[in-house]
Amino acid sequence: MAWTTAAAQAAEPWLNETLIDAARMATDPQEATRLYLSAVSLSRVSQTKSEALSGYIEEVGSFAVKTVYCLSLLAFGVLWRLRDRVARMSSRWPVQITIFWCVYWGFLVIMLFPFEFFRFWFLDRISQRIETGWPRWTQGYLTGQVLPGLAGLVGMILLYALIRRARKGWWLISWAASTLLLAAILFLSPWLQRKSVKVSQNPMLLTIARQLARESGLGRIQVLERADVGPQGRIGASFTGWLGTTSIIVNQASLVRCNEDELRFIIAHETGHLILHHAWAWLAMQSGVLLAFFASTAFVLRFAAARWAVTGIKGPGDVAGLPLLHLCLVVVTFASGPLLNSLARYGENQADHFALEVTRLPDAAASVFLKLSESRDLEPSRVVEAVFFGHPSGRTRIQRAMEWKAQHGQERNSN
Ligand SMILES: [Zn+2]
Repeated sequence: MAWTTAAAQAAEPWLNETLIDAARMATDPQEATRLYLSAVSLSRVSQTKSEALSGYIEEVGSFAVKTVYCLSLLAFGVLWRLRDRVARMSSRWPVQITIFWCVYWGFLVIMLFPFEFFRFWFLDRISQRIETGWPRWTQGYLTGQVLPGLAGLVGMILLYALIRRARKGWWLISWAASTLLLAAILFLSPWLQRKSVKVSQNPMLLTIARQLARESGLGRIQVLERADVGPQGRIGASFTGWLGTTSIIVNQASLVRCNEDELRFIIAHETGHLILHHAWAWLAMQSGVLLAFFASTAFVLRFAAARWAVTGIKGPGDVAGLPLLHLCLVVVTFASGPLLNSLARYGENQADHFALEVTRLPDAAASVFLKLSESRDLEPSRVVEAVFFGHPSGRTRIQRAMEWKAQHGQERNSN
């Protein structure tokens, strides 16, 4: 059955349709890839490159500021002095941790403010990505810190209660409990996102999804739609949930800005994630990072208590060790980033390959990758792609689609 969408006719103004048509006709994968890549307007390329650069600055800068903050507190023995002062104010440890955390969190927010201001207000303002004035931005930034601060306080009280009770095995119990919590969040994620997603009633979307689920042996499939963000929503889709709640979420903009073949490829890609059990893989990777975090924290806290006198840390249950715990979190998260990204890219490549095999639509795939490049750097350097990219770059994905096309011949015409 042929469906038409408003989208199929509404060309993207920043894409050169003549070059895309030429790319579809090209038989050499390198030539076809080059033509596809050159179809994006230069202004769009420079815009996504500058946005991407801001993202890298944010990631590296935030790591550097937090590391310096934690190391300074440890080296100057600030926190054991604070611990002793707080202990004189109250003998109840939950009260001590609350006071301690408020001071710690408050100073961290102040320390991070110049950097966050530069990254999220100044850079975005000069690039005309936001129109908000600095007083309103600052107010929004500070109120945005309240909820993470409260969540951190609850986490701290639970963690220190566990350390005091379990003593040596606290890190193993913490790892098991946090993995279970993560699994529960993944299981509940369609429900947790219920305000921004709804069960799809779109006949075209449902027909394509059910057909792909049947063909690939997935069986029943839940399809959700995500409401657009901003005046012109971004295209995209994702999978969410785990075990019985697994679902595909399609951005509503994808229904307006993609034609049927492109939509088929997008849904097939997400179906690939489900068929290949990528929710399990994601959970295993996150659990591995949590294990690295808790094990390294237990080790360095013991080490500091025994051999690093300037920190004044008495043992794992001492709140003066909070910067060390925080430092382990920052370092493990930052160091595991490239590894997690390369595993994620591997999974994305698998899902792309699955989608090409079931849809046999390499040119629709290339067109989707181009449209996705409105918000992603299409051609990053190889090093940047290896370190920062959780998806292969548009260039890599288009090239693989064109190589698939060269090996398997012309795509089918489903319209
Ligand atoms: Zn994917």
